[in-house]
Amino acid sequence: MKIFKMCERGKLMKLLKGSEVSKDIKQGIRNRIKVLEDKGRQPHLGIIRVGSDPSDISYEKSILKNCSSLGIQTRVNELKSDIDTAGLIEEIRKFNEDRAISGILVFRPLPKHIDEERVRIAINPAKDVDCMHPLNLEKIFEGDSTGFAPCTPKAAMEILSYYGVDLAGKDVVVVNRTMVVGKPLSMMLLEKDATVTICHSRTKNLADITNRADIVITALGKAKFFDDSFFKPDSIVIDIGISLDSQGKLSGDVDMEKVEGRVKMLSPVPGGVGSVTTSILMKQVVDAWERI
Ligand code: NAP
Repeated sequence: MKIFKMCERGKLMKLLKGSEVSKDIKQGIRNRIKVLEDKGRQPHLGIIRVGSDPSDISYEKSILKNCSSLGIQTRVNELKSDIDTAGLIEEIRKFNEDRAISGILVFRPLPKHIDEERVRIAINPAKDVDCMHPLNLEKIFEGDSTGFAPCTPKAAMEILSYYGVDLAGKDVVVVNRTMVVGKPLSMMLLEKDATVTICHSRTKNLADITNRADIVITALGKAKFFDDSFFKPDSIVIDIGISLDSQGKLSGDVDMEKVEGRVKMLSPVPGGVGSVTTSILMKQVVDAWERI
């Protein structure tokens, strides 16, 4: 994949490749692990997976591979899909109390019969590397960086920072209003002095709004929804959406064929935000370990 493509009016478009950002984050992690090894313990991620959903298994494989390459230990607690809320909370409690475990990840979404609100408050906030506990989410909304951020919004922020995009005073449109992506991401952007507009399925004239923005961050989950009519030649576009297109191919919200070369910067799918998300998780496991 070329990094630059010819843009309208002869400008070059930059592809914001996640692999470069990830490489940088991982190097930072390696350095920190090396320095802190004399604490006598390795950072250790405890994973709790309920059932065997294929997307959870595939994410788990990628996490285990990344942890192993970085020197982060892992323990996977695989639970039966019919476990009840109390049973799941008991397993979380064991990881909370295990001094060897520095970070805990519970795969979500959980089965429908599980009371997710009770599960969220069961996790020790100091080990909550996926920002599940309300206390860590609250810190994001307060601009307090002592907690853990949700990994996907943080990955989008890291991409912008790595490629030198200054957010102060920029008009940024976020197309998503969920607690997993849009709301925390909007708070992080605000913290960097951006002017933020949040759009959703009831937003009128979406293209008018995105066309006025300097930066558009999308997480609709609708393959190839955005063509070039949504953007201007100097738009910066971060695509968080992941879904399958009509051919069954992995696709972002942005129609790459129509948009490529017609904006200033674009993060591709695959190869963009998704590839940075796991590195952010690793980084937060090391953060948790350093704080013990
Ligand atoms: P979600 O719960 O389905 O939320 C989708 C959001 O898009 C909602 O806020 C929805 O508005 C909005 N929306 C839907 N159709 C719209 C339209 N036509 N115009 C404007 N807004 C529209 O999904 P999610 O869990 O937040 O995830 C969103 C996407 O991000 C998915 O593709 C998911 O796979 C991807 N994702 C990627 C990563 C990663 O690591 N890269 C991680 C998490 C999620 P309403 O609120 O009005 O319904």
